[in-house]
Amino acid sequence: MADDIVWHDHKVVRSQRAENKNQKPCLLWFTGLSGSGKSTIANALDVALHNRGYHTFLLDGDNVRHGLCKDLAFSDHDREENIRRVGEVCKLFADAGLIVMSAFISPFTSDRRLVRKLFPAGEFIEVFMNTPIETCESRDPKGLYQKARSGQIKDFTGINSPYERPPHPELCLDTSRMSVVDCVEGLIAYLLEREMIARKD
Ligand code: ADP
Repeated sequence: MADDIVWHDHKVVRSQRAENKNQKPCLLWFTGLSGSGKSTIANALDVALHNRGYHTFLLDGDNVRHGLCKDLAFSDHDREENIRRVGEVCKLFADAGLIVMSAFISPFTSDRRLVRKLFPAGEFIEVFMNTPIETCESRDPKGLYQKARSGQIKDFTGINSPYERPPHPELCLDTSRMSVVDCVEGLIAYLLEREMIARKD
């Protein structure tokens, strides 16, 4: 980084932005295999929070790869850069006072740790989608497992590219056993318990 680029402190700080919204900023980082339910659950939580009047934003892996990260492929290096950029963008949204959700496979522990380090303690909430690969593959919502098995996609996580399970996630969800509603209720309960959101009567 150039030495003559100086950080500008903002007059309105993130806690003030969040206070205006009656919430605490945080990032719910959904990680897991393709088809494990990251997008489905993150979207359902987004709707549930939005309907309760909270200010949220959702970043989705596929969508980001259409714009911000369209120059990146799926090599280890490109996956790392993808997550680095996404982490920084999530941080900006959290600085704006929002409850942020992200749905990225993010297979490497070291990359997820880098994003965690961008956030104050308690504000990075790792949600591990612990859905068995057999379920993910049988769902195959985008037909990608079939393509990977037939050799049309290389570097596909879970098939010919590794997924490192998070050692200490804040939350674990197995969507082969839990319904979408159960998962969302669990997440809302977690946010209430940690006072990221307030109970509304
Ligand atoms: P990912 O974002 O992890 O790739 P998706 O959310 O895109 O996964 O796909 C999960 C698929 O599994 C969707 O087609 C969804 O409808 C289906 N599904 C079935 N049961 C569940 C459940 N309990 N929770 C989440 N998704 C489920």
